[in-house]
Amino acid sequence: MSVLVVTEQQSGRWHRMSFEVLAAGQQASQAMGSPLIAAVVGAGIESLAAEIASKQLSEVVALDHPALASYTPDGFAEALRQAIAHLQPELVLFPHTYQVRDLAPKLAASLDKPFVSDAVGIRFDDGKPVFVRQLFQGKLHADVTVEGGEPRFASVQSGAYRADSVVTSDTPATIRTLAVELDPSRIRTQTEAPYQEAKDSVDLSSAEIIVSVGRGIQDPGNIPQAEELAKALGAELAASRPICDNGWLPLDRQIGSSGQTVSPNLYLALGISGAIQHVVGMKGAKTIVAVNKDEGAPIFEIADYGIVGDLFDVVPALIEALEAEQ
Ligand SMILES: Cc1cc2nc3c(=O)[nH]c(=O)nc-3n(C[C@H](O)[C@H](O)[C@H](O)COP(=O)(O)OP(=O)(O)OC[C@H]3O[C@@H](n4cnc5c(N)ncnc54)[C@H](O)[C@@H]3O)c2cc1C
Repeated sequence: MSVLVVTEQQSGRWHRMSFEVLAAGQQASQAMGSPLIAAVVGAGIESLAAEIASKQLSEVVALDHPALASYTPDGFAEALRQAIAHLQPELVLFPHTYQVRDLAPKLAASLDKPFVSDAVGIRFDDGKPVFVRQLFQGKLHADVTVEGGEPRFASVQSGAYRADSVVTSDTPATIRTLAVELDPSRIRTQTEAPYQEAKDSVDLSSAEIIVSVGRGIQDPGNIPQAEELAKALGAELAASRPICDNGWLPLDRQIGSSGQTVSPNLYLALGISGAIQHVVGMKGAKTIVAVNKDEGAPIFEIADYGIVGDLFDVVPALIEALEAEQ
């Protein structure tokens, strides 16, 4: 019996959430008193397997096969089915990535098991996992238990576990290559070249200060006000999804579950309600300051400092104060 963590990589580069799910796996294996195994899936993945073996876990299992060079639901589900049959884990954890949304339900259903998606925490009652899921934009937390025996399948939400909390080990874990048998003729999808992001796209993940605008900005003509504040603070400008969907700011400025995940020292949220899909992308910020007209806005639940007020009063006042300081 063990906890199996399924990591994710593309073209030899880790998905950052692989380490978040590894942190979840380390905590679960400790709570359950079960060994932790990490699976790496792909082709030519020796160096990735060696890298993950430096973390505190019992074993790394490499599912290495030419037909796994790029993601296909048929190939990856079959490889993991074989690994699960061999390893007999009691708990299988995934990062809640787009790939996993495609893969994990297929895999779990093929084994006649439920899949608990997007958990923000895992508790243990009598040694059995209780998955915590958010409902109604994070207003409620539901405890989900899974009947029907093991293995139990779940994915963890982006940002729910910190990648920097992964414990490393002085002695590398054993790496085992599992012989996966795949019939390429049974893989029904053909993969195209991965989507390339624009060369001049901005990397907000390294920004120290971010000024982020939401629908409260009301009109694209008001964005220069936020830009002026960002400039005065030496900050990058970012946005919630509706702003990018409307084309008021480019897509690479979007923060959230379908945008970038950031952890700046200061995140200033202007007219952003704090929907869960936004919050998962910025809750790792050291200090969160929110400006919102509505004192009941969910963003105030995670803000370190909250200003209940009209951003069109607050932003000019902040710019004036910053300019007066210079
Ligand atoms: C699958 C999926 C993925 C998603 N991914 C993302 C994502 O990556 N990122 C993301 O942001 N969203 C994402 N969303 C959308 C998300 O659910 C919310 O709809 C979105 O975050 C809301 O954006 P907002 O806070 O700017 O707008 P709203 O929810 O409309 O909030 C606007 C806020 O501005 C305040 N306000 C209005 N006028 C003023 C004023 N003058 N001064 C001060 N405050 C004012 C209001 O009180 C309100 O709280 C996703 C949704 C789905 C279903």
